Amino acid sequence: MTHVDCLCEVRSDDPEGSGRRSVYLTFDDGPNPVFTPEILDVLAEQRVPATFFVIGAHALQHPDLIQRMVAEGHAVGNHTMTHPDMRKCGFSEVQRELFETNAAILTACPQASVRYFRAPYGAWSEEVFTASQIAGLAALHWSADPRDWSRPGVDAIVDTVLTSVRSGSIVLLHDGCPPSELTQCTDAGLRDQTIAALSRLIPALHDRGFEIRPLPQHH
Ligand SMILES: [Zn+2]
Repeated sequence: MTHVDCLCEVRSDDPEGSGRRSVYLTFDDGPNPVFTPEILDVLAEQRVPATFFVIGAHALQHPDLIQRMVAEGHAVGNHTMTHPDMRKCGFSEVQRELFETNAAILTACPQASVRYFRAPYGAWSEEVFTASQIAGLAALHWSADPRDWSRPGVDAIVDTVLTSVRSGSIVLLHDGCPPSELTQCTDAGLRDQTIAALSRLIPALHDRGFEIRPLPQHH
């Protein structure tokens, strides 16, 4: 897999010249009616911004959650309509996934400004980069992945992020499930580790001199 055309870290990461190191929180596969509100509650309590890479089909089902994300100062990114492995899709299908998801987000919340795209499974290809560019979206990968979806334990999620994080890091977490896994997602405990880890991770990052920032507006 090549990441030459997608952003894994943010380079100019101290826009205010504060000297504090920046970290960016991202959440994939939502919105989910059970887990997303809990994640939003933690972010609100701790007053930090995040970017939610939402699945278009979920956004259409839960427009209230897209509206809440935007109202609370978070960014909404494009994570396709149906969460396919886009390397296995034809170019027209890739384009349709991107455009329909942008439309779904804007239908849910006309105030949303969609600037970034993340490929499901981080499965990038030249065609995906080209389609992102045509759709006006910057391709965004990640640099810190605690594999929270696999429920490795709260300590493991926190420790993996803290040991791998550095200035400009983009952290990958999950507030929902792909449509194909949604039946398992009815388990109310499925993202409990992510939520518990987030509550500990934010103060731990602050203690280490990191500022949690919104992704840059311009790319
Ligand atoms: Zn995903």
